[in-house]
Amino acid sequence: MVNKGELPQYYIEDNHPAIITLEDWDKVQTIRKLNQPKVTRPSVNAPQPFRQTFRCGECGGIISQYENYDRQKDAIKKKARRYWRCRVANGKNFSGTCTSPSFREEYVEHNFMSALLEMKSNDLPQLEAEAVSERTDLTNKEHSEIEEIEIMMEQLNQELYEAVDEELNQAGQDTKQVEALTNEIVQLKHQLDAFEERQEQAAKYRTELEWLMNELEDIPEFDPLKHRIAFRADIFERLVESGTIHPDGRIVYKLSTGIEWECYLENKLAYKLKVKRPRRKRSKAK
Ligand SMILES: [Zn+2]
Repeated sequence: MVNKGELPQYYIEDNHPAIITLEDWDKVQTIRKLNQPKVTRPSVNAPQPFRQTFRCGECGGIISQYENYDRQKDAIKKKARRYWRCRVANGKNFSGTCTSPSFREEYVEHNFMSALLEMKSNDLPQLEAEAVSERTDLTNKEHSEIEEIEIMMEQLNQELYEAVDEELNQAGQDTKQVEALTNEIVQLKHQLDAFEERQEQAAKYRTELEWLMNELEDIPEFDPLKHRIAFRADIFERLVESGTIHPDGRIVYKLSTGIEWECYLENKLAYKLKVKRPRRKRSKAK
């Protein structure tokens, strides 16, 4: 290792790793939340939210969109019937076989809105998500561990300066010690990074839960066997990280709040259900 003096400089910059106190963290989160625009209306031309989101519950294949046209009436693209189906089941991958059926896009949308309704009328999603963020977050013991690591790092940095100094004076006699110290510091930094990552993740779960609880308040009551309500792509996109569609139509959603939620609807013919429009006056008459 040839040292031309860059090491001490490097560690001066890196001497105080970006450890943020909890108070600061909360402040930052509050400011960030205030700066976020509040979504009040679903965007009509949202990008396809289901793309690359679902996997097949039978074979694990990717679920893709397929379009069907009724030759006489629905030649206009807008009237295409959209289906979501496992690619393997659709024969796109000949190395495997899958018997999972296809589902109308209306069904997938309806299943999601029904899942939201279930979440609204159930305490479990909130309790589970709170438990997950608590489990993810750092314990008091780990907080004091962080402090210890920081003190250790500072000490090691000091030793490193001295070792590098010495090495320069003695024309490279002590490179082993410099390397050993460097390795130790890097390892401690990794530990700190891992702690920080968990803290961020836990904060994210909390933010997402708070946002979701807010959105759920606006989800109107409806009977999923009798009606549909307008699909909220904006909620779907933020809430659903991935999902599994099982052959029986059950959909398991992996949510940004850290939990999974499952929705099963007996009736798969959702496209036949009327879409219930909210009666509130804030939606303008067309
Ligand atoms: Zn499949």
